[in-house]
Amino acid sequence: MRIHRARHRHTREIMQEILIETLMTKGVYSLAQDARLSDAIAIMKEHHCSCIIVTKDDKPIGIITERDIVRMVADWGTGADLLSKGVTEAMTSPVVTVNEKADLLSTLVISRAQRIRHLPVVDSDGIVTGMVTHSDLIKVYLQIFEKQREIIDNSIAERTASLIKANEELKAMALEDPMLGIGNRRAMEVDIQHTHTSAIRYQYPYSVIICDLDLFKSYNDFYGHLAGDETLKVVARVLKANIRGSDRLYRYGGEEFLILLPETEIVGAASVASKIVKKVKTANCAHIKSPFRVITISAGVCSASHIDADKSWKDIVMIADVRLYKAKEGGRNRVVAED
Ligand code: GH3
Ligand code: MG
Ligand code: MG
Repeated sequence: MRIHRARHRHTREIMQEILIETLMTKGVYSLAQDARLSDAIAIMKEHHCSCIIVTKDDKPIGIITERDIVRMVADWGTGADLLSKGVTEAMTSPVVTVNEKADLLSTLVISRAQRIRHLPVVDSDGIVTGMVTHSDLIKVYLQIFEKQREIIDNSIAERTASLIKANEELKAMALEDPMLGIGNRRAMEVDIQHTHTSAIRYQYPYSVIICDLDLFKSYNDFYGHLAGDETLKVVARVLKANIRGSDRLYRYGGEEFLILLPETEIVGAASVASKIVKKVKTANCAHIKSPFRVITISAGVCSASHIDADKSWKDIVMIADVRLYKAKEGGRNRVVAED
């Protein structure tokens, strides 16, 4: 009997595939119709069986169960009268049988509907080949049910695990920096790649500004990392407030930001950079370890309009980065927009 299935299927479907011949009891006791009730009782006692099939030409015509015997005792007492009775007087007849090729589902339906506890199993010629009881059927049904539940539980566990994994992947793929609520580096790469491609194709300019907090290590060392985080948030807000809606702000690295300015020439980008450098300074976040006494940023700017079409966006970012380095070297709190 196969009740194991890897995938979840309907219990009904599985029950329809299980044939009665695979779960019936083969050793069945039967008596010919001319036997006495005493013969039936003797067999029941000797073989510990709870029912006997009464046959005529090997075909079942009735069934005697322990219940029938009890009923007979109640009606006739336990004397010789009772024992000499013929089995046909005690049997329940006609007897409902089930074909050995019948399936579990239909057999269970019959036995439930007719409240039959013992069902003789017959072959295609109507000859008895075994017996199934209602409890046999229920037992197999419960096994299938239990197995199905296990499969469902497993598949829920599997799905939960894969949802957790997908969620983690989604998080990794997320495009926003959780602390600053602005685009992260991944978002930046996606956007800048797109901007670069269409800028080259349609001959539009675009610019990038990379800015980096000045002397932020000593800020953290002095004020603590948490204060550093708060200051980063302030700077992000200042930058956001001072760029156009069409410009995009990203967290490029730890305390570095990148601003993407589509359709903007170097002059425009340099002026945006100067403005934000000033605005960050006037935000007036104390930084006593800095010569400026407040938080400042430096910026490097590069525009794609001056670059050959065979350059990639990475080249543009790299040039902006080199210029940022020059702004640092030049004393910080400043913009470098050319070589
Ligand atoms: P420079 O002016 O040359 O840029 O000096 P710097 O001290 O800013 O440069 P450096 O690269 O030495 O230090 C960057 C510091 O930024 C170190 C790092 O701990 C800090 N930092 C980066 N990300 C974060 C962050 O998310 N929170 C905080 N609090 N600090 C950060
Ligand atoms: Mg840095
Ligand atoms: Mg820095």
